[in-house]
Amino acid sequence: MSSANSNGAPVRPRSSVLRPLGQEEIRVTGGFWGGKQRTNAEATLGHCEYWMERIGWTGNFDRAAAGTIGGDHAGIEFVDSEIYKLLEAMAWELGRNRTEDLEQRYLALVARVAAAQEQDGYLHTSFGRRGQPPRYSNLEFGHELYCFGHLIQAAVARLRTGHDDTLAQVARRLADHLWVEFGPDGRNAVCGHPEIEMSLAELSRATGELRYLELARLFVERRGTGTLRPAAFAPEYFQDDIPVRDATTMRGHAVRALYLASGALDVAVDTADLGLAEAVQTQWTNAVARRTYITGGVGSHHQDEAYGDDYELPADRAYSETCAGIASVMLSWRLLLHTGDEKYADLIERTLLNNVLASPREDGQAFYYTNTLHQRTPGSVPDEHELSHRAESSLRAPWFEVSCCPTNVARTLASINLYFATATGTGIQLHQYGDYEIHTTLDDGELALHVGTDYPHGGRITVTIDTAPTTPVTIGLRIPAWARNPRIVSGHAATERGRLLEVTGIFHPGEAIRLELSLEPRIVFPDPRIDASRGTFAIERGPLVLAVESIDLPTGWSVNEITADASTIAAGPDGTSIDVYRLAEPETDWPYRTSAGVAEAGHVRARMIPYYAWANRGPATMRTWLPIHPRSEEQDA
Ligand SMILES: [Zn+2]
Repeated sequence: MSSANSNGAPVRPRSSVLRPLGQEEIRVTGGFWGGKQRTNAEATLGHCEYWMERIGWTGNFDRAAAGTIGGDHAGIEFVDSEIYKLLEAMAWELGRNRTEDLEQRYLALVARVAAAQEQDGYLHTSFGRRGQPPRYSNLEFGHELYCFGHLIQAAVARLRTGHDDTLAQVARRLADHLWVEFGPDGRNAVCGHPEIEMSLAELSRATGELRYLELARLFVERRGTGTLRPAAFAPEYFQDDIPVRDATTMRGHAVRALYLASGALDVAVDTADLGLAEAVQTQWTNAVARRTYITGGVGSHHQDEAYGDDYELPADRAYSETCAGIASVMLSWRLLLHTGDEKYADLIERTLLNNVLASPREDGQAFYYTNTLHQRTPGSVPDEHELSHRAESSLRAPWFEVSCCPTNVARTLASINLYFATATGTGIQLHQYGDYEIHTTLDDGELALHVGTDYPHGGRITVTIDTAPTTPVTIGLRIPAWARNPRIVSGHAATERGRLLEVTGIFHPGEAIRLELSLEPRIVFPDPRIDASRGTFAIERGPLVLAVESIDLPTGWSVNEITADASTIAAGPDGTSIDVYRLAEPETDWPYRTSAGVAEAGHVRARMIPYYAWANRGPATMRTWLPIHPRSEEQDA
């Protein structure tokens, strides 16, 4: 077990197999992730500020402080949480690359939030004031504690980047208020939307205050005991159907399920509750095996934003909310720290690159809320100046009436480097690849190294040592589950420990370890129990899921009327391409028939693009799962 002595990490368990690195220990230096973090800092943060100012969500705090808000609240009742996620993003960004301009913007926004805190610590702009519903009068759907959780996470980000200032004080007063209201002598209740659990556990870790951990534990234990009144949906919707430790899979609203599981694991780890930790691992395992899209996205119901049944994974109705992908990364990260098992890092990679990164537009100023895997119609271009409904437009929208995803993307990208690597007393583990540098202290001294790669578009990763102790050190590199015949080049012996390839030795400055992964395209078939994808295949290349977009087909072709020949997939300098055939479908008055044969109307060589990059060239149809062309079936047989 390694002690949690690092500073600026979003998750810092009281004990863990792997130690997370802090913002001061790992820094992205450029390349793929450097571009993402730069766009986030230069475009997305300001975009979020602009929109929330413009539509009055930030102004809610001013009116609450002035006592004039009443029924004049702008936006749905939980928009406070968007300000808090933006503050969290700003805090991580300031920890990563402080500028005076951003610091001033951050402090000004914090001051407006702090001014709205009431005498007893309560802080919400939708409840409790004259003309508003009473506090805690709608725990099912009011999202009060959900908002508090995001405020607390924002405060933790500020604390962990070295500042015990205003927001941390606000968060402590709020958490103390919650202890009175919901602690052992308070009401036996939970919030309809989990989030408070993991935030209180982390605030406890950051401040040493054990009451916050105990309150998190109470919220986890009360869940599943029927304290919430089901309304439109069954208790499963907010995971109130059975206790967390009795559940065997993820179910109900996907973001809620994954935030709850993250908080439950935090509590389990810090209270040494092995049964609870095992329950969360079982839920992860079963949901990944049967309820997860190839992109790592989750949630196959639009109506309740929920997980479907096992193998219920329709591509064209995928909900796959961006926030659920982010929540999945948060849970997998906690499980990786807890167990050291690289299967969790594999899912983080898949989900980050193929679900979370599909959300922001290239310029960082428009987002997908839902992430379909099959777009049937080119659809409409959203108005850049209007709010969009969450799953309405076919292109990314600048802002939504419920806009949880953009700020969630912002805080994730501002801290993404913190999910790349971990340390133990005698070594370092590289879980994700990009251009970054690490400078940390191991038991026997300082270790500094830098990683360079063209990943995820290329497969060569070079780790160069800058400083190392004079005693043996172990550098671990994750071999992705998809990789075949990885090649490692190093002057030291490499041994496999699970899917971690460990190179151990006394390293000298300038010495390099090279990992080479083959990026040949791979054909992937769905489990036959996934009815919605039966008779199709997908193409993956390296860590990326690929897609066909109608822009890469002849004019007038739609992805809905193609089949593809898997045997023709090839990768060249211009990317990956495949033979696709257009079906000749005569107009009929009944879409069912007694013969299975289809006629063709020509074929072309079609380019495939990374799924995350789709819809950056205007309205298009798109699909990831390609119907198998009859010829490839014959060849298989
Ligand atoms: Zn969302």
